[in-house]
Amino acid sequence: MPEGDNVYQAAQKMHRALAGKRLAASDFRVPGFATLDLAGWTVLEVVSRGKHLLHRLAPPVTEDGDTGPGPHDGAGRLSIHSHLSMEGSWQVYAPGQRWRKPGHTARVALTAEDGTGAVGFSLGLLEVIPTVEENAAVGHLGPDLLGPDWDPARAEANLRADPGRAVGLALLDQRNLAGMGNIYRCEVCFLSRVHPATPVENVPDLAGIVALAKRLLEANKARPRNTVGGFGPRNGTWVYGRTGQPCLRCRTRIEHGTLAEPTPGTGTRIGETRERDIWFCPSCQPLR
Ligand SMILES: [Zn+2]
Repeated sequence: MPEGDNVYQAAQKMHRALAGKRLAASDFRVPGFATLDLAGWTVLEVVSRGKHLLHRLAPPVTEDGDTGPGPHDGAGRLSIHSHLSMEGSWQVYAPGQRWRKPGHTARVALTAEDGTGAVGFSLGLLEVIPTVEENAAVGHLGPDLLGPDWDPARAEANLRADPGRAVGLALLDQRNLAGMGNIYRCEVCFLSRVHPATPVENVPDLAGIVALAKRLLEANKARPRNTVGGFGPRNGTWVYGRTGQPCLRCRTRIEHGTLAEPTPGTGTRIGETRERDIWFCPSCQPLR
């Protein structure tokens, strides 16, 4: 499951590879877009929004220099909107380089005029929308932990809006704050000594949890791999995936559990799986 920092890194990498370049070819392998041809379109930028990715493209310039309707207000531009979901990835390829994943898992391949390519594999969500309508696709997201709109007070207020909800569920709900996946959810709760099932209203320092999440994602966004390295010993995790192993603080065995909404799926958006698995130290994180 990609976390916000993975998606941020993927966007940065594709931005460096493609921004400012014209596409020589596009190959969409999903229903609804299979006949779409973006050859001649220019990649303006690639950005992440929480765990969503947006490739923004400008239309081909016509012979009289017109870029189509409303050349300067973004009208006529398109955005490739994707979400990695559980298994997805975007990879960048040098000219002529072979794909590192099976071709049948490719959902879209973009090739720039210089031969540089980007291929999206096993994407949970892939659509092409007018850039001016991006808000309909990602506008439900709360403040982005790694975005220019980050607003810790708003994120905290969003979390507090449902005071009886388990904090471990509230933190994963991308409408509250965008960019956290299960690893960060579990690690942040451990580092804050809060059991993930604790109702939001019983969390002693919710602002501290929000600030910690921001610090962890910021610290990891430039790293080559998604680990909570530097936070857990030896680049590992404190609790995530460590069922039965001793707590690195107190030696109590780490427990695995599940956490789910009373009405599963409430508020779940396409491509945003709500994970049930949690790991915690029963001594360091007593349930309040
Ligand atoms: Zn412990």
